[in-house]
Amino acid sequence: MPFSDFHGNSGTLHSLREMLARDRFPHAVILSGPRGSGKYTLALMLARAMNCLERPLADGLPDFCGHCSNCARIAESLDLDARFSEAVEARENLRDADKRETRIFVQTHPDILVIPPDPPQMMIKVDQVRHVIGSIYYRPSQARERVYIFTGSAFMKEAANSLLKVLEEPPEFATIFLLTENPGELLSTIRSRSVTFTLAALAPEDIESLLAGRRPEWNARQRALVARLSDGAVGRALTFDLESYAAARGHALAILNSAIRGSDHTELFKITESYRPGADGREKTEALLRTLYSLLQDLMFLQSSTPQLVRNTDIQGELKKIAEAADFAWIARASDGLAEVERGMRRNLLRSLSLDAFATALEK
Ligand SMILES: [Zn+2]
Repeated sequence: MPFSDFHGNSGTLHSLREMLARDRFPHAVILSGPRGSGKYTLALMLARAMNCLERPLADGLPDFCGHCSNCARIAESLDLDARFSEAVEARENLRDADKRETRIFVQTHPDILVIPPDPPQMMIKVDQVRHVIGSIYYRPSQARERVYIFTGSAFMKEAANSLLKVLEEPPEFATIFLLTENPGELLSTIRSRSVTFTLAALAPEDIESLLAGRRPEWNARQRALVARLSDGAVGRALTFDLESYAAARGHALAILNSAIRGSDHTELFKITESYRPGADGREKTEALLRTLYSLLQDLMFLQSSTPQLVRNTDIQGELKKIAEAADFAWIARASDGLAEVERGMRRNLLRSLSLDAFATALEK
């Protein structure tokens, strides 16, 4: 999986590879961009290019082979969600005293360390930065360059200050990546010691043409839908679960229609009953809520005469019918109602009941 597999932001990619070629890669790089714009993918590609044993060139610039031992082991970190869950689960199985002192890391190569925000607060903690400091001043053992990737920019105060000390005197053979959706979250003193690159979201048309090659089983309408729903994020578009989305959207539409029309609740209750407690039910309910929000947003676009912003383009006709029956106040009430269902989920109220309450409260 060489650099040619990275989609979009070709100018940024070119600059980064040129710095690699000239051996002038900065010690601290902020990769800024929306969720799914490829920050993590790019950081791991650069880590492989720095450490690939075969050091191939492509278009005269450094690339990576993807199969040498360094490339292969770094690539094991690519599925960040899976590696993160494994690390969290491993911590869960520790004795209580050890659990408290253990921080979450992802490490599939001895010289490459991924530092995700530590749950439950989902912030970078000072012990994580201390762990970085514990190794960063030693020469790498199997790589040319030690690489540290902070996947979030919400730092506890003490953690940010410790990182700042490292950035003031970084060792020759280490590179730190800071990935962020919002660079303003980082201390200005951290930002001033780093070089920032911004990854832009891709235009829906670019994602559509990418999907045409990668998801040939989808038709043009489906590709257009996924491109819009993934907000320019390549990663999200390529891994989009269209089937689950269609299922959730079917339910969301039925709930909205039932709320608009009122009267018979048989169908509504049949749907909401299928949203059960437990981990599976939680994920399903969260997907439903996200879909409801996105439909309400589309209704808002239709109400405000900006139909070009509608994302669920393939059901525009059906949405128009709902939009005609609803008004701004109703849509606003529905959004408030959804927020209420979310709060209920956090308090562990029975999901199907709060969904029923949501729909029936909206009846006209
Ligand atoms: Zn390699």
